[in-house]
Amino acid sequence: MRPDDLCPFCSEQEGCSHLFISCPRTKSFWASLSIDFSVMTHVHDIEQLWIANPFLEPNQRMRTTVLTCVLWNICKCRNAKVFRGEDETNAQISRRCYDDLRLWSHRCFSSSAKDKLIEWSSFFS
Ligand SMILES: [Zn+2]
Repeated sequence: MRPDDLCPFCSEQEGCSHLFISCPRTKSFWASLSIDFSVMTHVHDIEQLWIANPFLEPNQRMRTTVLTCVLWNICKCRNAKVFRGEDETNAQISRRCYDDLRLWSHRCFSSSAKDKLIEWSSFFS
């Protein structure tokens, strides 16, 4: 966060919920994904993301991996703005999600989990 605690995108008060859910910049990214965006209207903090399950992934570990990947890359988008003055596109964020899930699939112990992560990476391509 900036010393003044203001969001680098919209100048609202910055916090976790703002960064990952309610910031207009983040909403734009969520809306760019092929999910039922109406699910997100009931999400007001990060924990609720796991319950809302916007990717409709029934497996909890897989859901956590995909959500973590998305949140990680939203954070990287914010850092690109704060530290390099770069405005990333939704396509750039999606591409990093794709790359990360492919990379993480190499660390899976089971081939079924690896296949599932590769399948999820395609969602972001
Ligand atoms: Zn904001």
